[in-house]
Amino acid sequence: MADHGFLKQKPGFATIAIHAGQEPEKWNSAAVVTPIVTSTTFKQPAPAEHTGFEYGRSGNPTRNTLEECLAALDGGKYGLTFASGLGATTTLVALLNHGDHIVSSDDVYGGTNRLLRQVVSRLGINTTFTDFTNIEKVKNAMQENTKMIWIETPTNPLLKVVDIEAIVKIARSRGDIIVVVDNTFLTPYLQRPLDFGADIVMYSLTKYMNGHSDVIMGAAIVNDKAIGDKLRFLQNAMGIVPSPMDCYFVNRSLKTLALRMEHHKKSSLIIANWLEKHPKIVEVLHPGLPTHAQHEIAKKQMTGHSGVFSFKHSGGLKESRKFLSSLKVFTLAESLGGYESLAELPSVMTHASVPALQREELGITDSLVRLSVGLEDTEDLIEDLDQAFKAAF
Ligand SMILES: *Cc1c(COP(=O)(O)O)cnc(C)c1O
Repeated sequence: MADHGFLKQKPGFATIAIHAGQEPEKWNSAAVVTPIVTSTTFKQPAPAEHTGFEYGRSGNPTRNTLEECLAALDGGKYGLTFASGLGATTTLVALLNHGDHIVSSDDVYGGTNRLLRQVVSRLGINTTFTDFTNIEKVKNAMQENTKMIWIETPTNPLLKVVDIEAIVKIARSRGDIIVVVDNTFLTPYLQRPLDFGADIVMYSLTKYMNGHSDVIMGAAIVNDKAIGDKLRFLQNAMGIVPSPMDCYFVNRSLKTLALRMEHHKKSSLIIANWLEKHPKIVEVLHPGLPTHAQHEIAKKQMTGHSGVFSFKHSGGLKESRKFLSSLKVFTLAESLGGYESLAELPSVMTHASVPALQREELGITDSLVRLSVGLEDTEDLIEDLDQAFKAAF
């Protein structure tokens, strides 16, 4: 019962996180902890010959270590890191050509929405946004020139769960279409999209993967050599690379990923259950709850849900404002996935860049509050929510 009917966790996750790509023998010093190599250039034995590294943008030993570990955690062959999650997205979109078309989940991360609508569209690559929980709508959004499908699951901030296998099936029936899954909300500990046929797993490592709210970084993991090689070329050619220091931080954080995600998973489900019984709550949007519209799909492809979820209360903007400013343990702030609990109002914060009409269609109202349940004691978090509701209503 511990898994509540979710997919079983594959064994060995924590061991991979701690050891993959991190053999002490790979360093001359046999360092157990990955060294931070800051050198931007590497001595060559002869002109046009090198020992694996030439210049810091095209490859760095600390970065390579992190990339190898990330690939292993997702069961992929190639891991690539970028200066931010959106930097990863920018590079992935550069796999496409002028005139190509993207089909994307409708309530994607606000920054992804903004990038596709306001930047990528100007380069002659248009995107159709649609509800990925409705397979017919996805089929109808496909065009002759569709070359990429962008899945975010669970979606943000409405926590809709998208059936990865079903979307991959649509892509495969139409030929050469790259399926990307933004797995930021879950991490490979809770979902491994490559296992379900996706071509690319994308991360904002800024969130759970780093988990300490002190690094901005992104990643892409792939199995296919041709896509892996193209991305390696683009990583160097476009230059959206992270610093060795930040790579060290993320690599260190991965060592506790299994422990952290296990706690986020348990604590958020307890809080979601508590909220569901609260008299001021209209709906709790948490994939781990049997009342969630896609709970069955969640159980099929996830090993559980993380700490981020949303709820709708019976008040309006005034109550949301009062509630959020009354919180004492939760911090009112954007972002998610850190050890500290956060709360925010998507309609005026993270999703303010989504056009008002689209926000309304999606249901991102002023009564929708998003939480990121951190690693504090669950009882303290519940007590905090309780006093804030009392202050707001
Ligand atoms: C934060 C986030 C991003 C963007 O990542 P940055 O590291 O902030 O550039 C993309 N997708 C999701 C789901 C996110 O939460």
